[in-house]
Amino acid sequence: MDSTSTSCKVLVLNCGSSSVKYKLYEMPTERLLQEGNERREPDQSFQALLDSIFRLIGHDVDMMAHRVVHGADLFPESVLLNEDVLRRMESISYLAPLHNPVNLEGIRLAQLHYPAIPHAAVFDTSFHQTMPPTSYLYSIPYEYYSKHKIRKYGFHGTSHRYVMQRAADLMGMPLEKLRLISCHIGNGVSVTAIRYGQSYDTSMGLTPLAGVTMGTRSGNIDPAVIPYLERLEGVGTEEVMHMLNHQSGLLGISGVSNDIRDLLKTAGEGHERSRLALDMFIAKLHQYIGLYFARLNGADGIIFTAGVGENSAEIRERICSGLEFAGVYVDTEANRSGHSERLISSPYSPTKVMVIPTNEEIVMARDMFQLARPAQSFYMANDSLAAVSNES
Ligand code: ADP
Repeated sequence: MDSTSTSCKVLVLNCGSSSVKYKLYEMPTERLLQEGNERREPDQSFQALLDSIFRLIGHDVDMMAHRVVHGADLFPESVLLNEDVLRRMESISYLAPLHNPVNLEGIRLAQLHYPAIPHAAVFDTSFHQTMPPTSYLYSIPYEYYSKHKIRKYGFHGTSHRYVMQRAADLMGMPLEKLRLISCHIGNGVSVTAIRYGQSYDTSMGLTPLAGVTMGTRSGNIDPAVIPYLERLEGVGTEEVMHMLNHQSGLLGISGVSNDIRDLLKTAGEGHERSRLALDMFIAKLHQYIGLYFARLNGADGIIFTAGVGENSAEIRERICSGLEFAGVYVDTEANRSGHSERLISSPYSPTKVMVIPTNEEIVMARDMFQLARPAQSFYMANDSLAAVSNES
């Protein structure tokens, strides 16, 4: 960091099992300096992949923010990392076995490579820690919640947090006065009811498998389907869970693709199961949007974000048609033109509809920058103390 100014470089790291995404920002200007999305080669170790990324970025980094999928109820906010925090994170890794262990491995390797700078974790679940028990408890014996933390946690929190603030700005209203329904529609899909700037309910659950139909995930099903399938197909729970996570959703119904673009094409060519998959996708989103109109006792705005939400005018149009009962009227022209952040409801629509490109990384960089400030003053104070004691 430049000691004569407060400007610094924040690296945002998102480690997945098959790829690592990163963005390097200058803060507080929020200028993007460098970015990448590196896939892991079949015979490449995770460590080798990270090493190559760190070589590319170099050592001119002042702070690092790490995306962590599951924070359970231990982390209602982003947190500076130390051994105690890492131990607590490890204690909840079992809640997200596909994600948290690789997130943690990324952190350990990054700390080895950049030992002298502050690191922080930003959790997908934190934003949803404001949900009331009526939203987060499952109707199973309470002991399973108290003993094993089995409850709804919700995900995509960093994205919902970013778009809600942008929505308030776009609507020219204070966030504290708004009820919003945020639809993050990418490969993973989650819908969140936001009440006065806080998550009130959300569609994903203990894991990101719950809620609406997704690219390859089933969303909600009757849990009794699982043992029934195990018996009928002669398979184990792991295989059924793999099927629900990777072979279901749009891909499973259509038998063609998990990508909405492919399905719009094949459905247009008359492929019946592609049409069905799209109809189901819309229907499940409808269910949750309707549910959240009820949970919030009405909503002031609906937000569309992520790959599909930002890019597919057709899907947005289909989701909003049939919501006129709730005062939702889309302006066809505004919906179809442009890719940037904008209102797409008609000027007379009581409920506003917005497209807001998400930016989870900038939220992470801001959190890191905020968190590191007191630490920096602490280090600086200690440095001057050390300097004083050295002199004496
Ligand atoms: P992830 O959940 O993997 O982070 P993204 O938010 O990046 O996903 O969204 C990826 C998905 O967005 C792709 O699977 C694709 O279906 C969808 N997508 C991207 N561009 C378009 C588009 N122009 N029209 C419809 N869908 C799109």
